[in-house]
Amino acid sequence: MSNRTFTMVKPDATGKGYTGAILDQIIKGGFSIKAMKWLKLTPEQAGAFYEVHKARPFYGELVEFMSSGPIVAAILEKENAVEDFRKLIGATNPAQAEEGTIRKNFAASIGENAVHGSDSDENAAIEGAFFFSRLERF
Ligand code: GDP
Repeated sequence: MSNRTFTMVKPDATGKGYTGAILDQIIKGGFSIKAMKWLKLTPEQAGAFYEVHKARPFYGELVEFMSSGPIVAAILEKENAVEDFRKLIGATNPAQAEEGTIRKNFAASIGENAVHGSDSDENAAIEGAFFFSRLERF
């Protein structure tokens, strides 16, 4: 079990001005920030990040959405980080997310769902390395 996970505040949430409130909920949820940056992905970069979803019917929409505005990328630390962060963000579809979760609080739809959270320790490491060099992680 690793103590780190990777997250993004997605373009819907940065565009609506929710970045601060989402980061506040993450920190109050017991996570500490080990790396962070604000940037806009190109469609090529978003496509590469979501390569695992290439065969899914929504891949084109996902790439377009994720490159439509700025995001915040971050590496987070907490005991049992991956599992606890998935609980904090809630189900992929905000309509099915539990009350009080980040997606319930801030997301509009299954596609534009405010935040990303890694689904395994292995992917957390891969995704963190996609955005941050060793010099940028603490
Ligand atoms: P996650 O691990 O909860 O983020 O969910 P998935 O790994 O299944 O999907 C990755 C991302 O693709 C989701 O967070 C959504 O942004 C997007 N996505 C998933 N399902 C759909 C869908 O049916 N339609 C669209 N447009 N996007 C989707």
